[in-house]
Amino acid sequence: MFNELIARDRQVNWHPYSQMKTTTHIPILSGKGSYLFDAEGNRYIDAVSSWWVTLHGHAHPYIADKVYEQLQCLEQVIFAGFTHQPAITLSERLLELLPANQTKVFYSDNGSTAVEVALKMCIQFAHQSGKKKNKILAFKDGYHGDTFGAMSVSERGVWTAPFQDLLFEVIFIDTPNSSNLEELYTLIDQHASELACFIYEPLVQGAGGMLMHTVDALSQLMRHCRNRGVILIQDEVFVGFGRTGTLFAADQLSEQPDVMCFSKGLTGGTMPLGVTTCREEIYQAFYADEKMKAFFHGHSFTASPIACAASLASLDLLLQVETLEAIQRIVGQHTAFAEKVRTVPIIEEVRQCGTILAMDWRVGGTSYFNNMQEQLYKKFLAERILMRPLGNTVYIVPPYCISEEDLNDVYDAILKIAEQ
Ligand SMILES: *Cc1c(COP(=O)(O)O)cnc(C)c1O
Repeated sequence: MFNELIARDRQVNWHPYSQMKTTTHIPILSGKGSYLFDAEGNRYIDAVSSWWVTLHGHAHPYIADKVYEQLQCLEQVIFAGFTHQPAITLSERLLELLPANQTKVFYSDNGSTAVEVALKMCIQFAHQSGKKKNKILAFKDGYHGDTFGAMSVSERGVWTAPFQDLLFEVIFIDTPNSSNLEELYTLIDQHASELACFIYEPLVQGAGGMLMHTVDALSQLMRHCRNRGVILIQDEVFVGFGRTGTLFAADQLSEQPDVMCFSKGLTGGTMPLGVTTCREEIYQAFYADEKMKAFFHGHSFTASPIACAASLASLDLLLQVETLEAIQRIVGQHTAFAEKVRTVPIIEEVRQCGTILAMDWRVGGTSYFNNMQEQLYKKFLAERILMRPLGNTVYIVPPYCISEEDLNDVYDAILKIAEQ
């Protein structure tokens, strides 16, 4: 069956970020907790939470039950002119957990759309406030999604090259550290009057290679933007829901963002849903008697009741003492292993932020297309561990249900492969 599924898949499916000619896609039949089972009966530890989405493990029975209940009650209703309990309750619960200045929730379908919504919100906000602001500030090496707006504010590279001429103008700056802040302030001051917003991944730049910056430096940069009237869009699509060791990266920063984006772990990784939240002042600029001041954006499945139900179930699980303790246990295990792996000659730049642990394999350059990526990926698969290195960067982003033993097995595989 294994080979038959691969052959049928190859006939009809086109996979993401895959050179179809040279990649085989392993057929997975089922998942349970932190394990995935393929069509040959092999068991893999999912050390990357299936592209950073799975929070509580695969096929979680509690989320499955809640989704099934919702499916039998109301599976979908148009969210323009109508509303429903799952969306109301989810917004109430999210706002309670987010920085106090976040007061409204706008739903969409995924991380990229949550970013598109945030960008459009800020640009229309400037427009309706009578200001001409059409430039956007972003970090180098950032990643905010694959739709055109999200691509525009992300690092430009080989994969955006075909679209380069169609991407809008963005001012890219370095991530902040203790020695470059003044330089960044000067750059921001030069452009402040035309900046509609600043979009950034807080603390960890995921797809850019798990690059990390400090709480202090980011907080100071945010404060400077705030003082210059630059709206802050905090993209927590990856880091939200416990990844950094706190519920949100925002919990560690001393400045609050104006707009926030969420997806990935929002539904516990069971299905797509995107959320963009904002400050009351932004919402109020759209709140008027004139119809034309409304925010003209929406998707067919905006605020899907099923996805909202999955998110509510995921929040229930996330806020359980056992889960919060598991997160801290993972953080502690990572810290101890980081110490150990720093002594391995072939490994460098070991870095950790909460449950995210990353390290680089010593080679020239960090290109995604580096052979290293493919070799490492295959070596981990042979150890029955799903890792998906970014170039020569190997990282662990585990589901919170991973056992101490399974996480140790992942560490052992890293050491074994490093010594080969
Ligand atoms: C993955 C990601 C996105 C895009 O989310 P999709 O659901 O894949 O469209 C946006 N921002 C960040 C920080 C991400 O990691």
